[in-house]
Amino acid sequence: MTQQEYIKEAEEVLLHTYNRYPIVFEKADGIYLYDMTGKKYLDFASGIGVFALGYGNQKYNDALKEQIDRILHTSNLYYNVPAIDAAKKLVHASGMDKVFFTNSGTEAIEGAIKTARKYAYRKDGRTDHEIIAMEHSFHGRSMGALSVTGNAHYREAFRPMIGHVKFAQFNDLESVKSLVNEKTCAVIMETVQGEGGIYPADKGFIEGVREICDQKDILLILDEVQCGMGRCGEMFAWQMYGVKPDIMASAKALGCGVPVGAFLMTSKVASGSLVPGDHGTTYGGNPFACAAVSKVFDLFEEEDLIGHVKEVAPYFMEKLDGLVEKYDCIKERRGVGFMQGLQFDCDPGKVVLKAQDAGLLVITAGNHTLRFLPPLVAGKKEIDEMIEKLEKVLNI
Ligand SMILES: *Cc1c(COP(=O)(O)O)cnc(C)c1O
Repeated sequence: MTQQEYIKEAEEVLLHTYNRYPIVFEKADGIYLYDMTGKKYLDFASGIGVFALGYGNQKYNDALKEQIDRILHTSNLYYNVPAIDAAKKLVHASGMDKVFFTNSGTEAIEGAIKTARKYAYRKDGRTDHEIIAMEHSFHGRSMGALSVTGNAHYREAFRPMIGHVKFAQFNDLESVKSLVNEKTCAVIMETVQGEGGIYPADKGFIEGVREICDQKDILLILDEVQCGMGRCGEMFAWQMYGVKPDIMASAKALGCGVPVGAFLMTSKVASGSLVPGDHGTTYGGNPFACAAVSKVFDLFEEEDLIGHVKEVAPYFMEKLDGLVEKYDCIKERRGVGFMQGLQFDCDPGKVVLKAQDAGLLVITAGNHTLRFLPPLVAGKKEIDEMIEKLEKVLNI
């Protein structure tokens, strides 16, 4: 069957919740993807920030194959070695104390919300605790995660949300302060907003929020699903601010292609919140997914991916800044490390389509932003190639 025929079939059987681009990817290698017609694409989206290692890393693939032959699933009624290894590495990399593995970022957020509510409940027995979330945030599509997602359009048709969520302005400390009261149990935010348009937290803001939380024993939940796992030049983006969360959510590049997420917490939170029976999952933390996580941490270290991001990011930013200077339609660049956005003066959707024609994958984010999330293995050569392809499109 041809690519076109597959797409026609897809639209007959798959629920239409995405306006997909008319491409069927068939194989991938390094930083390149190939569609069914054999067309090659340079990938600066990496499956929305997932494929940090690039495609087809042999050591990663071998680790997964070995795990398949050993044991694929056991359930959380028993222990398994990959989950123990993965948890140890995650705890070590983050400085957090306890891990709960989930199947996705959304579920990690759900767990984080439940943990914060339970922690507050155990302190005062109230059941009307409030959460402060941020405008233009994105935390996922389940009812709980959607309830703290600052995008009215995503929420509207699905009301009522879970209750007692208030929205502050990101990077506006006063707007957070004005919402804090004796019922507040948590503040949740992305360390660097992704879907909202690539907005890093200001240092003063995140420090200020931490201080408010410390004063009132409010839990700070940082969503590192997109900005974590080395993308910003530290394993987790909060590490560049020196502000540690009480609860943290991870996913996307955590498994580098295997669906897995996690929420982590400090000992203080762990010992004062969830107890057996409070939370669970069938697949979460299964040996296959955790073998992926475990290998990802090994390869991050072996290949010094964070060192690589630190080294190459200034070049990446310099090249993007060059585009801001050269093209009137581009207003500014925002971002850190390998999480970058160009602010356009109009919807850059057409740029994305034309870039695809030119063999380049980039994506959009909120507020007319063109978003770049290259695999962390991308080097100067690929950045040059990306800029060259993008310029061809911008010159049309
Ligand atoms: C993608 C994303 C999520 C949701 O993760 P899923 O794995 O799609 O459920 C949550 N938070 C942020 C910041 C994300 O970018």
